[in-house]
Amino acid sequence: MTVRGWQPGSWREMPIRQVPEYPDQARLNNMEARLASFPPLVFAGEARRLQQALALAGQGRAFVLQGGDCAESFADFKANPIRDTFRVLLQMAAVLTFGASLPVVKLGRMAGQFAKPRSSDTETQDGVTLPSYRGDIINGPEFTAEARIPDPSRMEFAYMQSAGTLNLLRAFATGGYADLHEVHRWNLGFVARSPLADRYQDLANRIDETLRFMAACGVASAPQMRETEFYTSHEALLLPYEEALTRVDSTTGDWYACSAHFLWIGDRTRQPDGAHVEFLRGVKNPLGLKVGPTTDADELVRLCELLNPDNIPGRLTLISRMGAQKVASALPPLLRAVQKAGREVVWLCDPMHGNTHTAGSYKTRSFDAILAELRGFFDAHQEVGTWPGGVHVEMTGSNVTECVGGAHRLTEADLSANYATFCDPRLNAEQALELAFLVAEELKA
Ligand code: PEP
Ligand code: MN
Repeated sequence: MTVRGWQPGSWREMPIRQVPEYPDQARLNNMEARLASFPPLVFAGEARRLQQALALAGQGRAFVLQGGDCAESFADFKANPIRDTFRVLLQMAAVLTFGASLPVVKLGRMAGQFAKPRSSDTETQDGVTLPSYRGDIINGPEFTAEARIPDPSRMEFAYMQSAGTLNLLRAFATGGYADLHEVHRWNLGFVARSPLADRYQDLANRIDETLRFMAACGVASAPQMRETEFYTSHEALLLPYEEALTRVDSTTGDWYACSAHFLWIGDRTRQPDGAHVEFLRGVKNPLGLKVGPTTDADELVRLCELLNPDNIPGRLTLISRMGAQKVASALPPLLRAVQKAGREVVWLCDPMHGNTHTAGSYKTRSFDAILAELRGFFDAHQEVGTWPGGVHVEMTGSNVTECVGGAHRLTEADLSANYATFCDPRLNAEQALELAFLVAEELKA
């Protein structure tokens, strides 16, 4: 069934931001046709299952953990970084599930998170100005005029990389790696040598003990303990790519974006009459909407109506990214407006995007500011009487030095040691795990 007035290509009539001008229209058209002939990456039934899980998070009966790179990159398409990020997400989820006694919905910013909105169309280095890097699915990160030309063939590689990544994630999720009985093994790697190792080891011991107790009582180990459900998500920025992967579900006749289970609209492309809102309102996947400090309360309620006219629980997740300084004043009025309008939403906290600063030539974030925003998010929900439904973080399983602070007290002088991101600074494994322990404390409080 098609949503009124909507077609997969109806966004083309609307004003659009952040989408590149391809120099060769014919090559772009050919690539769109090619992608449209490829198999879907995810299935409608999976997206529906995720929506049901998110509906629980909207009612305070589950918590969402969404995390991964700011931008995936073609250069980093290797098994180990994927495994390491997945493993840290599992560890974080174990901490949150055990700490909060709630199911945790696991959502990777993975297997398709390639297109980046940019604050500026150009970048200048040593007096040379070039078009900005917009993510590997659009152009190249190298600082040369040639690399920065948008190239449609990159979409095909992004699709293939997403398929390969998703295949590995599916194998990890259901092939034994995510078995809760392996909770100790997830701690191998560098977290084992960190100040957080003991804390995690202690939690893993308690989980072990609980599993042994249950087995002794004759409770058969449920499939939920042997495998996990893991979903993929990315910002639906590059609409030609998203449209080409949008398909009719044969079971329901509904349109689904089949590039990922969950797609979100960025803070820069959330105009109610813009192309991105138009495209996403017509697909049935669960959706996210980034909500920054410039969001107007009436406009937010209007967006909720546009994106979820039937007010279906789990359909719409609002991802607040205010900044530590602004969260206390900016978030409560929005929580109240959405509550008063009776809109069903899940509220997540993205404590990353409002807390970026530069230190020398590096973009970084302070762990303290990230925690301050998280606390502000929990306080705002407490004040208004709404449920803080989850967190959205940029993180990696690798031992990077991109955000300052955390248990190892990384300083600005340490940033150059292993600064590897292609876009925004990520929490490393240890910082991500520390954040999970702190969120679990907030949820228990
Ligand atoms: C992002 O999630 O990487 C991003 C660009 O976020 P925002 O739209 O909130 O700035
Ligand atoms: Mn980012």
